[in-house]
Amino acid sequence: MSFQFGPDYVRAIAPYQGGKPISEVAREFGLDEASIVKLASNENPLGMPESARLAMLEAMEDLGRYPDANGFALKAVIGTKHDVAQEWVTLGNGSNDILELAAHAFVEPGQEVIYAQYSFAVYPLATQAVGGKSVVVAARDFGHDLDAMAAAITPATRLIFIANPNNPTGTFLPAAAIAGFLAQVPSHIVVVLDEAYNEYLPPALQYDSIAWVRQYPNLLVSRSLSKAYGLAGLRIGFGIAQPAVTDLLNRIRQPFNVNSMAQAAAIAALNDHAFLAKGAQINDAGYAQLTAAFNTLGLQYVPSSGNFVLVKVGDDDGAGARVNLALLKCGVIVRPVGNYGLPQWLRISIGLPAENATFIAALTGILA
Ligand SMILES: *Cc1c(COP(=O)(O)O)cnc(C)c1O
Repeated sequence: MSFQFGPDYVRAIAPYQGGKPISEVAREFGLDEASIVKLASNENPLGMPESARLAMLEAMEDLGRYPDANGFALKAVIGTKHDVAQEWVTLGNGSNDILELAAHAFVEPGQEVIYAQYSFAVYPLATQAVGGKSVVVAARDFGHDLDAMAAAITPATRLIFIANPNNPTGTFLPAAAIAGFLAQVPSHIVVVLDEAYNEYLPPALQYDSIAWVRQYPNLLVSRSLSKAYGLAGLRIGFGIAQPAVTDLLNRIRQPFNVNSMAQAAAIAALNDHAFLAKGAQINDAGYAQLTAAFNTLGLQYVPSSGNFVLVKVGDDDGAGARVNLALLKCGVIVRPVGNYGLPQWLRISIGLPAENATFIAALTGILA
């Protein structure tokens, strides 16, 4: 018997599979990087806001010093925006960091974490990393079945992840459904409401999750600056919860988990309402463009409230991988979702009009 490092539950983790980088696809398929269209990681097709770029140039002058460990200036902006005290804000190295901190803070080995089938891939990773037991609740119409999730609560449950809108399906839970769910969860179980795509919701669907944070000391809302705010490469997100939860997250985070450039850029981006509005407009137009094409091609898709669309590209379990490979050869990177148990589907991030058109032309040719 050879020696094996680490606990079994760590060795059992399947590493996260991200979208393929453009440089890798160019190398692998002998393509020119400039010709490649990447619609694979729900990034903002506008890139980063100019306001954030300028803020970073200024912050760059001070990189010899450690970042503000408490992120005072950024927390002040977040606190004002959401009308909460700074003691309610936790900064994260991406909102991914917040999800992991929650698992580390609230779950002991063997305790249960509930999340939905077809929900974000980081939930199982965060659960397994602490030796938690995943309780995966079957999806309803590709989204969360909150009744079934409430019914899955046991004395061993410590944490529940809900993504709204959900990735990779784009499904949306209306406010009343979440409010009804929160009212049923025992107060010792922490609920993480992951709102990475919140900014893409049309005004009619927007809801006030921070009001629930005021009502429920066991609720942690997480937000990302990687999607609508265009800062995926910087890694910055945050959580809002009452101090009892926030205090624990702050004890276990790395003291300098959010770097100076990210703090400066986030302040600029959060104040850049024009960038957000432009992104929403591009997203709406791109959604209409993609779904019109799917309708023309007779492809089923899941109506999405995010910046991506899940589309079914065939009826056999090889379809997603096959069409994905054919798209790569055309220089179009999308996201296969076989690892989510959706081998007949692909997730397409909404791009600029020309990028969407390149994808649609490639897909049309492949399916012909
Ligand atoms: C992208 C995403 C996140 C994490 O984004 P960060 O880049 O870590 O902020 C969190 N939750 C969901 C559902 C996502 O799709």
